[in-house]
Amino acid sequence: MSRISTEIDFDKDGRQTGFLRLPHSVDRSAYGWIPIPIVCLRNGPGPRVLLMAGNHGDEFEGQVALAKLARSLTADQIKGRIIILPTANAPAARAGKRNSPVDGLNLNRCFPGNINGSPTEMIAHYIETVLLPQCDAVIDVHSGGQSLQYVPSTHIRRSPDADRFARASALMEAFNAPFSWVFEGARETRALNAAAERCGIIALGTELCGGGTVTPNALRIAERGLRRALAHLGVTALDPPDAEILPSRRLQVGSYPFYVYAEDDGVFEPLVALEDVVTADQPAALIHPVDTPWRAPHEAHFKQAGIVVCARVPGRVERGDCLFHLATP
Ligand code: CA
Repeated sequence: MSRISTEIDFDKDGRQTGFLRLPHSVDRSAYGWIPIPIVCLRNGPGPRVLLMAGNHGDEFEGQVALAKLARSLTADQIKGRIIILPTANAPAARAGKRNSPVDGLNLNRCFPGNINGSPTEMIAHYIETVLLPQCDAVIDVHSGGQSLQYVPSTHIRRSPDADRFARASALMEAFNAPFSWVFEGARETRALNAAAERCGIIALGTELCGGGTVTPNALRIAERGLRRALAHLGVTALDPPDAEILPSRRLQVGSYPFYVYAEDDGVFEPLVALEDVVTADQPAALIHPVDTPWRAPHEAHFKQAGIVVCARVPGRVERGDCLFHLATP
């Protein structure tokens, strides 16, 4: 089924910690393997959930939240099974980078993966063919990473299966992030949420802040949301520590017109901030030329109205870099 092996027995009750062993033959280690940390908690039959973070290695909020959850949960607190991958693309997480330094690949553009592929393709293949088929739900904890900052949010993908979409929607509501949205736009078939769709299970994603760092606010939202989501799925017997429902804005995100890209190289001067409500054609940013400061800056515009839910972080931009994206009610 996969070239990746593990000492973890997914059918065994109790708490197990260990590694997925990803074969990787290099100069310093001819028969070596890359370790991908994994935690499995099982207590009899029941709901089966995969929690993962570090799909992108420079998104740290989920890596911290899942490590804390993995340390705090005991098998007798759950019913069914929770598999936790705090650093799904472990080489990327170890390097603190979006893509793997081993093969340069982005795990979330590698599904369904390849059993004989490069390390990142083998991880994608293992998740899609070994882990997802033995789960009922997956929560993939993302954030903006080093280049983007998001409002704290969860998202689901529009599913052609009405029942599955309703269950994913209920899971998103249970997580109760300040923003919740549905991706209505073009299908990315290489992402984890597409893999979950192929396996017939529900998937919840998050975009919890970002900027290549961890904030107390983002972590609080992640930890609270994960506990609420696990209780909703019935896999934790514990009541969520915070049962109060906080306000959550329900939004949708479409395809191309929702995004603003740099159309020149230079220094990025944002003209709006996260959560601003903007109109079509409103100026979004000025891109100042570095070598010819006497030239007028390029003005980027929003193509449609909406709420700013994502903004670029680094000050330097190149043509083709994403500056903002919008959501609509
Ligand atoms: Ca991400």
